[in-house]
Order: sequence, then structure tokens, then C-alpha cells
Amino acid sequence: MGISEKLGVIGERRPTDPVPVPGCDVCASAYGVREPARAEGRSLAVLSCNGVIAGHPHGRGGRT
Ligand SMILES: [Zn+2]
Repeated sequence: MGISEKLGVIGERRPTDPVPVPGCDVCASAYGVREPARAEGRSLAVLSCNGVIAGHPHGRGGRT
């Protein structure tokens, strides 16, 4: 999937949107930025936040 294809789908909730892990400060922070960014149409910020949520490690059983 190319970047333009990804940008084309911003604005609707995608099944591939990474879901923040409950109790994770990193996820909570990124999610708190992503949703307003999506509402404002800031596609790059949305993609960045998705990358953060999907890209940082969680130990098995979660991290507190
Ligand atoms: Zn997290």
C-alpha cells in the first residue's frame, strides 16, 4: 500500500487502525493526539500517531 493510498482513507475509522493498549501511557498519549488530528484532517499527524501506537513494544501481559 502506497502513502497516497493511506492518505486517501484518512477520515474514516479503518479496521487496521492500531488500538491503544489500556494502561499504556505511550498509547494513551498517541491516541489523545490522533483523534483530534483525525477530526482536523491532519493526515500526517494521524499516521504518525498510528505509527507510535503500532510501533512501540508491549511486554507480554502488558506494561504498567
Ligand atoms: Zn502502548
